[in-house]
Amino acid sequence: MTKSEDVLAGQREFLFPAVRPLYDQPLVLDEGEGVRVRDVEGREYLDLFSGILTTSVGHCHPNVVERVRAQIGRLGHTSPLYVTEPQVEAARRLAEIAPGGLSQTFFTNSGTEAIETAIHLAFLHTGRSEIIALRLAYHGRSFLATNLNAMKAWRPLSSSFPGVKHAMTPYPYRCLFKQPCDESCGEAFARDLEDIISTTTNGRPAAFIAESVLGVGGYIVPPPGYFARAAEIIRSYGGLFISDEVQSGFGRTGSRWFGIEHWGVEPDIMVMAKGIANGMPVGATITRPEIAASWTPKTFSTFGGNPVSMVAACATLDVMVTEDVPSRAETRGTQLSQGLEELEDQYDWIGESRGMGLMQALEIVHDKHTKEPAPETAKALLEAAREEGLLIGIGGLHGHVLRLGPSLLISEAEVAEGLDRLSRACERVERVGS
Ligand code: PMP
Repeated sequence: MTKSEDVLAGQREFLFPAVRPLYDQPLVLDEGEGVRVRDVEGREYLDLFSGILTTSVGHCHPNVVERVRAQIGRLGHTSPLYVTEPQVEAARRLAEIAPGGLSQTFFTNSGTEAIETAIHLAFLHTGRSEIIALRLAYHGRSFLATNLNAMKAWRPLSSSFPGVKHAMTPYPYRCLFKQPCDESCGEAFARDLEDIISTTTNGRPAAFIAESVLGVGGYIVPPPGYFARAAEIIRSYGGLFISDEVQSGFGRTGSRWFGIEHWGVEPDIMVMAKGIANGMPVGATITRPEIAASWTPKTFSTFGGNPVSMVAACATLDVMVTEDVPSRAETRGTQLSQGLEELEDQYDWIGESRGMGLMQALEIVHDKHTKEPAPETAKALLEAAREEGLLIGIGGLHGHVLRLGPSLLISEAEVAEGLDRLSRACERVERVGS
């Protein structure tokens, strides 16, 4: 029995089957550095998915490791009953890079909790309890969050929260208004949001929540103008606009710190997690002081803002600012998207390459003409990439979109290597038959 087989046998015996790793033969990872990881047999992989866009400055970044090590030997836990400098420092740093007046943060331990905090806060602030989300959204795994999710695979129970409605996904590749989709479609998609408010709610929504680039849904970038109109509409009905930046935050989309800034929109509440602390568990909900002040009932998160996670966040944000990751992501993202466009031109089963910055995807279809989703081909490419020593992710409603989101510090040579490996993986899939 190999070491991997031994660990996998333990996983099957002692973990919920719901903890479901990728691949026919799941990968047992052991070590990482920068954009490289090694499995327990010592095989190395180029990691272009960074633990779902989470090791944002690379595996085991020395500055983060050093601060975490020092903090855990000094004071590992306090609970929010006490004040710590790392938590205040982390919140101050977020306020420095967040858009406009967003300056007060509530820390939790995951994206799901940060989403819960945002929705809860919107209800408390507005005194209302209806929310509009987008179809193909993913916001987490709690009862409320799974009701916000709008892909059947991520909604394990029947609807349990009646106040959630879903508006049309602003999805250019599959836009029914016009092909190619343009700014006029941004307006048409936003009109659907207004329709949903006026036909399926009491007209007094608490909030509209959206990912600025839909993540699990397949890195869908809404058409220009959509978010500006959507924010205007929700506000005209007295609701708040919540931007979920769990995947698209921290320079990921290139040239801006947060995805929503590309559209010139300042959210009322913003949700962050994943890349915020390079892999330490941190969720953060940031808003303006007058909204934060609406949370008057008692609330508490024992581990939220714990000093070890907070120094990881501070060290990560430090590296991000020093390295100017938004502009790095823009440059490396252009290199990556050019390589992906070449693959799109080469293969009829790559319907579209798309994304922003270092958040890039390939939508896999039976052929460019019908655009019919091809999850089997996507799965074959995922497995072939692994054979080529390359880790990428998968998503989309049918599991037919391949997703790339490497460390924001990835080098030019590493992007080129990733594209070479992906190109060889595509050749493998083509040889076997798509
Ligand atoms: N929002 C978005 C956009 C996400 O992608 C995720 C996780 N994939 C979440 C929220 C939930 O985050 P977590 O898994 O940390 O609870």
